[in-house]
Amino acid sequence: MKKEVVVIGGGIVGLSCAYSMHKLGHKVCVIEKSDGANGTSFGNAGLISAFKKAPLSCPGVVLDTLKLMLKNQAPLKFHFGLNLKLYQWILKFMKSANAKSTHRTMALFERYGWLSVDIYHQMLKDGMDFWYKEDGLLMIYTLEESFEKKIKTCDNSGAYKILNVKETKEYMPIVNDNICGSVLLTENAHVDPGEVMRSLQEYLQNAGVEFLYNEEVIDFEFKNNLIDGVITYKEKIQAEKIILATGANPALIKKTKNDFLMMGAKGYSITFKMPEELKPKTSSLFADIFMAMTPRRDTVRITSKLELNTNNALIDKEQIANMKKNLAAFTQPFEMKDAIEWCGFRPLTPNDIPYLGFDKRYKNLIHATGLGWLGITFGPAIGKIIADLSQDGANEKNADVMLFSAFFRD
Ligand SMILES: Cc1cc2nc3c(=O)[nH]c(=O)nc-3n(C[C@H](O)[C@H](O)[C@H](O)COP(=O)(O)OP(=O)(O)OC[C@H]3O[C@@H](n4cnc5c(N)ncnc54)[C@H](O)[C@@H]3O)c2cc1C
Repeated sequence: MKKEVVVIGGGIVGLSCAYSMHKLGHKVCVIEKSDGANGTSFGNAGLISAFKKAPLSCPGVVLDTLKLMLKNQAPLKFHFGLNLKLYQWILKFMKSANAKSTHRTMALFERYGWLSVDIYHQMLKDGMDFWYKEDGLLMIYTLEESFEKKIKTCDNSGAYKILNVKETKEYMPIVNDNICGSVLLTENAHVDPGEVMRSLQEYLQNAGVEFLYNEEVIDFEFKNNLIDGVITYKEKIQAEKIILATGANPALIKKTKNDFLMMGAKGYSITFKMPEELKPKTSSLFADIFMAMTPRRDTVRITSKLELNTNNALIDKEQIANMKKNLAAFTQPFEMKDAIEWCGFRPLTPNDIPYLGFDKRYKNLIHATGLGWLGITFGPAIGKIIADLSQDGANEKNADVMLFSAFFRD
């Protein structure tokens, strides 16, 4: 029997699409190749960091990254090779690092950040139970120059709180005197992403959304300008609408004759226990070394690194050691008890703008990917945009897609 809506990919974006489509009364089926227990949407930092945060590609980023590379503290690592896309990606990244593009993107972040926050509230009202804290994001600076630069951007709106070293230690007891100070971005929030994912899965299953786990989609059958069949290892599935939310995996996107300027950017996390009194009081980001540290119910998680042009899913012990070393330069010695190491791939576009909207060839196909380092931040908003778009029936009829989709951005 033909299904109404098939969502391919059960990460935060796929599940958020399923959530909003279900709310609009659609019958949804999610197809996920894994067992849905530990993908990129689970092991990340869980920051909802939409507010007063610049995109990765912003003025000064190239020089700052080169300086960090010289100190072996850079989060960025390129696996150079014969991949033209990598060079196109880098070029676009550098082109986007200007004030005009940054301001436009930050305004969009603000707009869709509030939408996501509203939807997280709605999920909690729906009875989902996950760690969700609206207690700001502490941006810790380790370089005087960047701290000064950040302070210049702070206004009296209440969105910023500038803290000296002593005040910073009240939020982050383990830092040492090598830091310069911090700025609390008061509007940002954080979640335990694993708890969000598990709550969403449970809620959707109870609500009648069908889940096909351990079922990889390997191809499509096309008929004129429609996708007539979604082919998995087990069966052929037909659907009126298909939402492609496969994160950093480009394989199915290519099957639809598209080639998005998006790369899997590998990152790592370490989740561990530490004494309650040493835990950070809110989510934090060591801004100059791009390392997040997030408190959770019983553990703390650090995340970092951005490796481009690799699809090796193994944990590189050198990267883990480098993360520990970089953090140790700015903290008192402490033990990471019962540490669990993890890695995942961000679907990263060069300007942090996602690919959203109807496919230009196949009229029953909608794309929803490319949220890079911000999938937990904007996943719920994207789910709502995609659900509304499916009602509107065309990209051009949907202002959010026209504003926030890479299909419509230079
Ligand atoms: C180290 C690290 C830290 C991060 N920190 C944050 C943070 O603090 N805040 C934030 O907002 N974001 C953060 N992110 C980014 C965030 O994790 C991602 O943007 C988000 O998880 C992407 O969600 P997604 O649903 O697009 O992709 P995914 O979570 O990867 O989901 C895609 C799913 O599709 C499935 N799939 C792929 N191909 C097929 C197929 N052929 N058939 C069936 N299923 C398929 C995959 O198995 C996968 O489950 C971080 C990422 C990393 C790596």
